[in-house]
Amino acid sequence: MAATSELRASLTDPNLLREAAWIDGAWVSTTTTEEVVDPASERVIANVDQVDKREVTRAVAAASKAGPGWRAKLAHERSDMLHRLHDLMLEHAEDLAHIMTREQGKPLTEARGEIRYAAGFVRWFAEQALRVYGETIPSPKPGARILVMKQAVGVVAAITPWNFPLAMIARKLAPALAAGCTVIVKPAPETPLSALALAELTRRAGFPRGVVNVVTGESAMIGKVLTDSPEVRKISFTGSTAVGKLLMQQSAATVKRVSLELGGNAPFIVFDDSDMTAALDGLMASKFRNAGQTCVCANRIFIHRSVYEPFAAALIERVQALRVGAGTDEGSEQGPLIHQRAVEKVEEHLAQALAAGATLRCGGARHSLGGSFFQPTVLTNVRPDMQIARDETFGPVAPLIAFDSEDEVIELANATEYGLAAYVYTRDLGRAFRMSEALEYGMVGVNQGMISTPVAPFGGVKQSGLGREGSHFGLDEFLEVKYVMMGGI
Ligand code: NAP
Repeated sequence: MAATSELRASLTDPNLLREAAWIDGAWVSTTTTEEVVDPASERVIANVDQVDKREVTRAVAAASKAGPGWRAKLAHERSDMLHRLHDLMLEHAEDLAHIMTREQGKPLTEARGEIRYAAGFVRWFAEQALRVYGETIPSPKPGARILVMKQAVGVVAAITPWNFPLAMIARKLAPALAAGCTVIVKPAPETPLSALALAELTRRAGFPRGVVNVVTGESAMIGKVLTDSPEVRKISFTGSTAVGKLLMQQSAATVKRVSLELGGNAPFIVFDDSDMTAALDGLMASKFRNAGQTCVCANRIFIHRSVYEPFAAALIERVQALRVGAGTDEGSEQGPLIHQRAVEKVEEHLAQALAAGATLRCGGARHSLGGSFFQPTVLTNVRPDMQIARDETFGPVAPLIAFDSEDEVIELANATEYGLAAYVYTRDLGRAFRMSEALEYGMVGVNQGMISTPVAPFGGVKQSGLGREGSHFGLDEFLEVKYVMMGGI
């Protein structure tokens, strides 16, 4: 059976598997295709059409043309359509999870969780669509009134990575649509199928043509067309800091609004007064979810010296019990890494740490399952100057660093150009406040290893990004503020 037909046959609704781009309310096939590979089996599971410059330009024109009609809809009409999309996502959750696991590798339980998380953004912004409130300001002049209104930014380009193939799109698409913007999505080439399945669901939900477009193809070309276009008024990007900087630069010529959700180097700090079981639970979730391929995953684990060894021993026990396997095997807790390049980066970080004096306590090598499977790994005697503690490893490796005092760990935690997420475990209330305030991060989990939710503002400071996604702050990213001075009253 051909690869694509095998995946299609495994779905309850085979029409969710789409391999063409979605532009101006139609599926667009091309002569050039790109393979989508299942990282667990390393087999091709689909061939996705690659659009050229002309088609990307057409997507921009379609989004631009659809803008006035979409903005003019009543807020509750946009809200109702988003609610329909949310319901469709949940109705087809099992198929969406299956598509995601096959293209991304994460365990089915995590994929199911991501579908619910992504649908949660759609529901949240369906509700927020009704609350795009303005203001009135007391006038400093007689006979005048000051009104402030919020209006859709315009055409939005959303560029997303492979690690959360649906959620990263949903948290841009849903607020943009709620605000009255039209959207062009460019998914990662590793995981276009989740994006295209979502496009199919937007079609079924009844979004008018041109309001949602998904373009698949060569990223630099697509990025250039989208950033050069004066019609695109906003770039919302999630991915690496290097690409974020490039898109920001490219957006300067047309002075676009830019939101960037970039890389992280999260410190995970365990004080000697913390609840050790809770800290272990939080660390396992933060570090090993998605095989360590999340932007908020613990990258540097600081343990107070007085509890360092017992904590390391308990962690190793948990890590060795992790079940590594294909995401489609129910019971798998860690799938493969996305591709060989990802494995090579992990190997490089490990080799440098070991050469510099770190101690390998478990794992440390490719898994016997082959391909891009990697053993869950724990390193002790790690120092903050090692590469593994300076750069995002994006893999299942937990490097443990000992610290002695609160001031010391604050300095160490902040000594990075990144500032996305940080985690602190302590039962001292004063310390919890001091740490939350001192950490130069956009998000801090206190006694919490999983902090992402549609109702809270997600985002980073320093070189981890600009802007926030989720919560009511996430809607503002897609709204312009207009002030009207009314005279002659
Ligand atoms: P990436 O290489 O920056 O790619 C992200 C997306 O940008 C992909 O769709 C990619 O397509 C595209 N892209 C690359 N160059 C481009 C260009 N010149 N113009 C337009 N698009 C371009 O990042 P990644 O390796 O896929 O994802 C991992 C990174 O994302 C990590 O650093 C992680 O921390 C970060 N991340 C951040 C968040 C957050 O919320 N802060 C969430 C998830 C992930 P191609 O692959 O085809 O180049």
